[in-house]
Amino acid sequence: MSNYWNKEMECAELYEMRALQSFRLSKTVKRVYENVPIYRQRMDEAGVSPDDIRCVEDLAKLPFTYKQDLRDTYPYGMFAVPMDEVVRLHASSGTTGKQIVVGYTQNDLDIWAECCARALTAAGATNKDFMHVSYGYGLFTGGLGLHGGAEKVGMTVIPVSTGNTKRQINIIKDFGSTVICCTPSYALYLAETMEEEGIKKEDIKLKAGLFGAEPWTEEMRKDIENRLGLKALDIYGLTEIIGPGVAFECEEQTGMHINEDNFIVETIDPDTGEVLPEGEEGELVFTCITKEAFPLIRYRTRDIGVLSREKCSCGRTLVKMLKPRGRSDDMLIIRGVNVFPSQIESVLLSLGDTAPFYQIIVDRVHNTDTFEVKIELTEAMFSDTMKNISETEAKIKAAIESTLGISPKITLVEPKSLPRVEGKAVRVIDKRKLH
Ligand code: ADP
Ligand code: ZN
Repeated sequence: MSNYWNKEMECAELYEMRALQSFRLSKTVKRVYENVPIYRQRMDEAGVSPDDIRCVEDLAKLPFTYKQDLRDTYPYGMFAVPMDEVVRLHASSGTTGKQIVVGYTQNDLDIWAECCARALTAAGATNKDFMHVSYGYGLFTGGLGLHGGAEKVGMTVIPVSTGNTKRQINIIKDFGSTVICCTPSYALYLAETMEEEGIKKEDIKLKAGLFGAEPWTEEMRKDIENRLGLKALDIYGLTEIIGPGVAFECEEQTGMHINEDNFIVETIDPDTGEVLPEGEEGELVFTCITKEAFPLIRYRTRDIGVLSREKCSCGRTLVKMLKPRGRSDDMLIIRGVNVFPSQIESVLLSLGDTAPFYQIIVDRVHNTDTFEVKIELTEAMFSDTMKNISETEAKIKAAIESTLGISPKITLVEPKSLPRVEGKAVRVIDKRKLH
């Protein structure tokens, strides 16, 4: 039996949702046309007037917005309200390129908290739960975003932020944290530290985790669930759109429901910009229809995903996005072959012979791409015979080659020798860009 935070929105009929979206979209487009010069200019150039946008189907008439537009208007050029209405600023963590700044009115913060409250409720959280927030607080949206949602639900919030992993474990144990949020890679690091400290999953009370901010695989989900003894749910968002809570997973664990009453989603062909039918893989494009301070129209996320309107057993009717494969700019082209780090993660974790920590190193030597995967051995494997280790190497090499069609060099490294992160993992070192 599923719990909803806002049943009316989460379980609305599609025609009702479309009507609401259409109304909100036309209002938002009028507002940005009047208040944000870059939108007025783009729409004028495209020959579209706000009056042409009356329903969701009209969306495709509008020009796209790109990350570069946010950089060009840095810091406040795309704000749609006067600064005295802006009560909070955040900035992207800057994983890719120069940072961008976004703003929120009080109403925007309320909407954001509601989006996160829906995610928490879908994870089974109530006001009886203790919420351990291990996302970073500060300009990064992870910490304060989920913090706001947890307070809305009435949970007892523990604002731990990142860092000092051993202390985090003590807090989980002593304070009785029942729900946790952090990046999936940090969840694994927590699990590892807990095991080192001799603390068993039975010794802690965690029952659910909301993990996101980076791509992760089903295999990683299983590993985290087994080691922390909780149900691991995915949560998606990006600073530009609002932060975490744009989409959230329910107990079915087959993709994330998008908060469609606030964000309209489209999938497009990243090369032609053409809108794809729901169900086809493409770049996710979002339009904010309730935000006041920073409403983006047809924002190109560069995240590659698939939408599904298949009936969900949880009863929510909100469209689902399947686990995104990663950003189109995370995609590596090695010897002409498209490679997503998540494909390699799937292979490694499903073989299960090594620790779940890896790094992909790409370089170009004599005009040929080199492709190396460094993987950590487990303590048990480390003391194994050379013969067994080379067999493992050969097995991983063959499995990656059969998935990708290109053969990597496999380097098995000592346990705990790859860097651990508190935020987003750095999976790829592409030295070709340095030459
Ligand atoms: P930055 O762009 O600096 O990394 P953000 O925190 O805004 O800062 O990152 C948002 C991006 O993180 C998304 O566009 C997406 O690529 C990735 N992301 C967020 N949540 C998930 C998730 N659950 N699964 C996969 N990728 C995610
Ligand atoms: Zn569902």
